[in-house]
Amino acid sequence: MSFDLSRRTTLAAVLGSVALGGTRLAAAPNDHTSPQGSKPITGSGKIDTHQHFLPKVYVDAVGLETLASVMPNRRAPEWSETGALAMMDARGIAKGVISISSGPVIPDAPNVLRKCNDEGAAIGVRHKGRFGLFASLPLPDIDASLKELAYALDTLKAEGVILFTNYGGKYLGDPAFRPLLEELNRRSGVAFLHPNEPNYHLVGQPPESVLEFPFDTTRTAASLIFSGAMKAFPNIRFILSHAGGTLPFLSQRLAGAVMLNPGLEEKIGDPNAAIRQFWFDTALSMSKPAMAALMAVADPTKIVFGTDFPMAPPFAITMSVDGLAAMPIDEASRNAISYNNAERLLSIKA
Ligand SMILES: [Zn+2]
Repeated sequence: MSFDLSRRTTLAAVLGSVALGGTRLAAAPNDHTSPQGSKPITGSGKIDTHQHFLPKVYVDAVGLETLASVMPNRRAPEWSETGALAMMDARGIAKGVISISSGPVIPDAPNVLRKCNDEGAAIGVRHKGRFGLFASLPLPDIDASLKELAYALDTLKAEGVILFTNYGGKYLGDPAFRPLLEELNRRSGVAFLHPNEPNYHLVGQPPESVLEFPFDTTRTAASLIFSGAMKAFPNIRFILSHAGGTLPFLSQRLAGAVMLNPGLEEKIGDPNAAIRQFWFDTALSMSKPAMAALMAVADPTKIVFGTDFPMAPPFAITMSVDGLAAMPIDEASRNAISYNNAERLLSIKA
């Protein structure tokens, strides 16, 4: 999950006042079938690299009640293939790369996630050209994850894998994940980094998805930079969710920390160059401040469009779609974010 679905007023306060373009907030919370203010789409459709699915095998394994219990609004998100396609058609999205979001601990994860990956690939076959797959790995079990990585990429031909920002409080630069990073680097793999709940709970704060999710994305990005993983594994294409969390805003502080530590730059290289190695998606982040920070530090050829469907409510997806249309950039740059960059990253066509 990546957003509080229940508190529309809170969300409006977070995003609405800074949204690009004229966004209407009159959408019914669970109706994803209407564009609800999105502008008509011209040219090629968008590629949505941040889209989730909840196959029956996953919901059955985790349990609807457990799934609901970890959602900020205590309601399990609703998903179906037809619902996903309707949302995509209404929003001018040609292709969605689907993944299982972070959530409750999965019992018998290697077995359940294998079935989820099979189902994700089957959805792509059933709706040719409409879906790709970021396959799930049963981390933190490294051996099982290496097996699943090979299966997902070699047999299912998945576009990449989804990794969560932390597993039990360990961030991805931790030595525990090194064998997986080595293999991803060898394969020049794509790793979609998705926020997870941190390993602590704060009292009196907004739901984790509001602040802690972007912070956790920042932490794992910093962990990859400071551990030297970005330098050691330059072939991995990491996608940071939600415009990198707060990484662009904090990039100068990170660079400063490197300057204060003799020897660190030798280990990790230029921290700003490391930040530009990352790819970034725009899910739930299409606001003037967020995009201004992102565009200031990111490689513009490495920004891809995302919705966070079905965790994001319709009005937030409208903000993502309309915000992209209203960005003060030329048409080629807009098309790059809409689909060109994702086509190049994933070797697919919109
Ligand atoms: Zn998400």
